[in-house]
Amino acid sequence: MTRQDIRTATSKEALDTLTVPDIMTQSDSHCSMSKEALDTLTVPDIMTQSDARPATSNEASDTLTVSDIMTQSDARPATSNEASDTPTVPDIMTRSDFHVHTCYCDGKDSPEDIVKEAVRLGMTRLGFSGHSYTAFDTIYCMSPDGTRSYMDEIHRLKDKYSGQIELLCGIERDYYSDIDTGDFDYVIGSVHYVNVDGEFLPVDESLEAFMRLLRCCHDDPCDMAGRYYSLVADVVNKTGADIIGHFDLITKFNEGGRFFDEDSPGYIEAWKSAADSLLQTGRPFEINTGAISRGWRKTPYPSAGIISYIASRGGKFILSSDSHSKDTLMFQFAECEELARNLGLRLTEL
Ligand SMILES: [Zn+2]
Ligand SMILES: [Zn+2]
Repeated sequence: MTRQDIRTATSKEALDTLTVPDIMTQSDSHCSMSKEALDTLTVPDIMTQSDARPATSNEASDTLTVSDIMTQSDARPATSNEASDTPTVPDIMTRSDFHVHTCYCDGKDSPEDIVKEAVRLGMTRLGFSGHSYTAFDTIYCMSPDGTRSYMDEIHRLKDKYSGQIELLCGIERDYYSDIDTGDFDYVIGSVHYVNVDGEFLPVDESLEAFMRLLRCCHDDPCDMAGRYYSLVADVVNKTGADIIGHFDLITKFNEGGRFFDEDSPGYIEAWKSAADSLLQTGRPFEINTGAISRGWRKTPYPSAGIISYIASRGGKFILSSDSHSKDTLMFQFAECEELARNLGLRLTEL
């Protein structure tokens, strides 16, 4: 499969599009942040809270939440797919997952162990998406040598498991990564950092790092969101992405509106601008369940309001687990498919 094939792939299912109300409004009022929470909680307080997951529930909102739609997901704990000797093929249409990390970056399992699990689950296609090299932060990503080893290993497995499952060798390219992605089967484009005054500040590495980012943006969520989404708006152009990774990663630690109000006009204005830019590229947006499987969120990226906005403008979506362990392949895809049906989303595949 060539990159061009990937980019011109047709929708797997073209569901009848429901009328999605434009729930967004714009005004000139600015973001409101949970200043009290920040003023009264110390980092250790918050770290303790986060350790005692799950995070707080969604506050009542005027917008449709995924929880409203995904009634099953509330009733089900966010546990991993149970390992078993008996093949347990999930009751879903999707048989693929293209956002999967291995021990070559910050994932837990070897590529081959993940392939075996994918075969056991009855998956037809599996895409690996190792983190691209970022020289300013090497902890979580593949080194240049490691990247070559990763590619060699995935290609070895492609041959070994051909006939059982189709494997793709992809890369999750960070906005600030300058690697050459020409030899990969596909690229997921993601923003994991915001550069503030020359310093690369992680968005999702940890709660403490996120709070630092917010502080460096003058404790102003509007400022932070504006910086983050201006990068997101450009992520396809910058990375050559075939898939738009976790669009609203900036909300990872904001369950329940803990740090800022996601319904505030200033925040909405920031993401709408990025969504409008990316919609023009025609690339699919991930519906990414990675933060659910790791206990940070109850709903996928992006939020229901963002999904509705993108869907109402003809955007496409692709389900991804952002797995860092073989136990979470296709995590909660059944719930996501229900969401897709209810909202009339256009799901696609590579
Ligand atoms: Zn990512
Ligand atoms: Zn990832």
